Amino acid sequence: MEMKRLSEWRRAAAAKASLLALITVASAATPAAAQLYMPRAVKQAYAKGTRSPDGRPGARYWQNRARYDITVTAAPPNRTVRGTETIVYVNNSPDTLQHIVFKLFVNIHKPGAPRAGGASEAYLTPGTQIDRFAVNGTVTPWGDDANTFTWKAIKLPAPLMPHDSVRLAFDWHYEISREAGREGMLNETTWYLAYFYPRVAVYDDYNGWDTMDFTDLQEFYSDFNDYDVTIRVPANFIVWGTGTLLQPETVLQPEALGRYTASFRSDTTIRVATAADLAGHRVTLPKTNDWHFRARDIPDMAFGVSDQYVWDAASVVVDNTLRRRASVQAAYADTASDFHHMVGFGRHALDWLSHNWPGVPYPYEKSTIFMGSADMEYPMMVNDEAFPDTSFSRFVAEHEIAHTYMPFYMGINETRYGFMDEGWATTFEYLVGVADMGAARETEFYKQFRVNGWITNPSPTQDLPIITPEDVLSGRAYGNNAYGKPSLGYLAVKDLLGDDVFRRALHAYMDRWHGRHPLPWDFFNTFNDAAGRNLDWFWNNWFFSNHYIDLAVAGVTRTGGGYTVVLNNVGGMAAPVDIVLHYADGTTETRHQTPAIWQADQRRATVTVPTARQLQSLDLQGGIWMDANPADNHWAAAH
Ligand SMILES: [Zn+2]
Repeated sequence: MEMKRLSEWRRAAAAKASLLALITVASAATPAAAQLYMPRAVKQAYAKGTRSPDGRPGARYWQNRARYDITVTAAPPNRTVRGTETIVYVNNSPDTLQHIVFKLFVNIHKPGAPRAGGASEAYLTPGTQIDRFAVNGTVTPWGDDANTFTWKAIKLPAPLMPHDSVRLAFDWHYEISREAGREGMLNETTWYLAYFYPRVAVYDDYNGWDTMDFTDLQEFYSDFNDYDVTIRVPANFIVWGTGTLLQPETVLQPEALGRYTASFRSDTTIRVATAADLAGHRVTLPKTNDWHFRARDIPDMAFGVSDQYVWDAASVVVDNTLRRRASVQAAYADTASDFHHMVGFGRHALDWLSHNWPGVPYPYEKSTIFMGSADMEYPMMVNDEAFPDTSFSRFVAEHEIAHTYMPFYMGINETRYGFMDEGWATTFEYLVGVADMGAARETEFYKQFRVNGWITNPSPTQDLPIITPEDVLSGRAYGNNAYGKPSLGYLAVKDLLGDDVFRRALHAYMDRWHGRHPLPWDFFNTFNDAAGRNLDWFWNNWFFSNHYIDLAVAGVTRTGGGYTVVLNNVGGMAAPVDIVLHYADGTTETRHQTPAIWQADQRRATVTVPTARQLQSLDLQGGIWMDANPADNHWAAAH
């Protein structure tokens, strides 16, 4: 609609034989119609120079960071989790901060919290209780109230000046939820601790404080921080977590320690703790143990705690140049047969992702696959269900481990731009799936799992532009825009550019923005810059439109040298397509068309098929780019 209005305006202007008309024609040469919509706040960030039009961080780019020191005490089955915490928060922004916004994700369990779905009795808890709060050593009222849910702004006693820091201290406690989702109790003594500590929200250059509610649907947005976290648990409890386990000899018995240490050099899975070891109390030292984890430049920490889960480990080379190995560990109920393969699946995922797509060495020292109920990613950890179908277990592990790159390595705002995180995990999941299962099986799986629900449903909620801020979406609209649609878009731009240029552009994006907070426009601009092509027509078509995939054969005509095939783009999306040609001599030929056929005219494309053979019929086959109406994808010669 906008393009139509613009061309009418141009026609009207050109009709005036005047200087004005000449200027208009000149400016029409610039691709104004293809310029990407940009929210006003993002335009302001570009104007301030915190982001650069070539896709790089701007000369004035900044982000805030913090150092977290946390000691957590947990003694399952007692459901009270206690913490003492200090945060040193550094204001790198040019702004004077009068307030600090805190995220309190555990308050999603409070009765009355705004939630995307319902909440069972077992899910509800009183939320996080702040027992003590201090700012720069001075006890300060927290001022809790019944209407505080997953975030809270606190006015500072004195403003936090640019380039200054503030020391925030807490004592807190909460009751762990009896219903496990992304965190909570898996059984009386097997817990997953995530999102549990009060944290400073992101304050960024284009949006200021992140005050989006956590509703248990959308995901997270975090700064890169340094963490020292100690989980204090009774004897016989093992703790798995993000970061380096410091001084494992202070928590493990010598034999278990020896197996754990050996796993860092082992290609084959070592049973660090078996069910018999646990039953015989042969794993941890017989005392209250402090499991101390440290990680730097990471967006979050998560932990699994159990006196029942067995523990497997091995490692794999993730960087051939440095010969760097990463540890792969699994923690699970011994009865889950699929999890006995999980270290192998994890090693395969780290190896494949490091050396193929994205082809960036796995950026952390370890990955732990913890058996839970979330199918969810955390830095250096995933929390996955056990499944009867072992190949599905591998698939879920690969998807969640692929998230290491986006959102964690890349600092994505998942809450607002889930397509920059889930879209990529879904893309890598497809690419590793092709390697695992072959193109035919993976294509069928991806179509059924990622595309079919969207493309076969004509409801008005299905085709919202991917760029729509996802914190305002729910249901299918959220799912489509976070997973399948953007993944098809990324795979379509891979098809358009070819693997070499696509890899160069993807690596440029990851190189420029890892450890930072890229916006969609930083991604689009970097791809344009690194590919050396203005792809705004493509981004507009896939990410900023209400398009869907529906191509049709408009006509086939015989020419001197073969045939001309005219395609209509009914749904509008610039999708790749295979034209499958069936000749009268019984032969068949497939001509692949990249999205380039839609660059000049996004509604109609003319494809030349040079051939001496006589065409009997043809079919359009989209593969993963499923067509909403396959009925008009066939043409047959008249008899
Ligand atoms: Zn995901």
